[in-house]
This record gives sequence, structure tokens and C-alpha cells, in this order.
Amino acid sequence: HPPSSPGGGSIPGMADCLFCRIVAGEIPATIAHETPSALVFHDIAPKAPVHLLAIPKEHHEVAASVAGADPKLAGEVLAAATEAAAKAGLTGGYRLIANTGPDSGMEVAHFHVHVLGGRPLGPMLA
Ligand code: ADP
Repeated sequence: HPPSSPGGGSIPGMADCLFCRIVAGEIPATIAHETPSALVFHDIAPKAPVHLLAIPKEHHEVAASVAGADPKLAGEVLAAATEAAAKAGLTGGYRLIANTGPDSGMEVAHFHVHVLGGRPLGPMLA
């Protein structure tokens, strides 16, 4: 997928992006849920009994990118995250986190929502 889409701010697939490569099937992942526009897969280094990542299939770097370029898609990613949480049986609740930019510790610059659950998580900022 060559980077393209001048002026759109939204690039369907970027060759050097880890999560675009998962979408393309070039890197294996355990898929938890899929919709036409979103993919939810298991985090490779889970921080809770259930730790999923919900992403738009199109490449967007951070929350502001996808919310600005395509708010409907941002909502679809959020919906896919909640649908995956339900499929995973997280009836007792769960936490959604979207790290954004260097201060957040964001490591993969493809917008993603962490879905964490399966145990009481305690206060978020401890
Ligand atoms: P952080 O690592 O600080 O949570 P991010 O919010 O960018 O930063 O999260 C990236 C997440 O992607 C991490 O939880 C990491 O374990 C996960 N990850 C990295 N590589 C893979 C992979 N190949 N498959 C699934 N998850 C991955």
C-alpha cells in the first residue's frame, strides 16, 4: 500500500505501519471482531485478562485525525470496541483507553482504542 490520498489526511494503508500490516494480513493477529470499517484484535502483551485493540482499517494517526477526517468512522471504531467487549463477556465492565501523542506513551501511530477487562481494574491513575 503506497502512502497516497493527497489532501485527504486519511490514508487507507501505510506500508510501514504495524497496524496497517495487521489489517492487510501481513502480520498475524488474533481477531476478536471485525466490521466493514474496523478491526478488533488481541493485544500481543496483554495488561489484563482481556486486552483488545480496536482500530479503523484506514490509517489515521490519532483520535483527532480520525475524528476530524471521518467522525462516522471514529464512532464505528468505538462501536466495534464495545461489540468486542460484549463478545468477550465483559459484563462486569471494562476500560477504554486511546493514547494520543508522545506524552501519552503512544507507540503505534495508528489510532487505536484499548479495551481492558476481565478483572477489577482499580483507579486509572494510581
Ligand atoms: P503503549 O505501548 O504505551 O500502550 P500504544 O497505546 O501505542 O502504546 O499501544 C500499542 C499497543 O500495541 C501495545 O499495547 C502493544 O502491546 C500492542 N502491540 C504491539 N505490537 C503488536 C502486535 N503485533 N499485535 C498486537 N498488539 C501489538
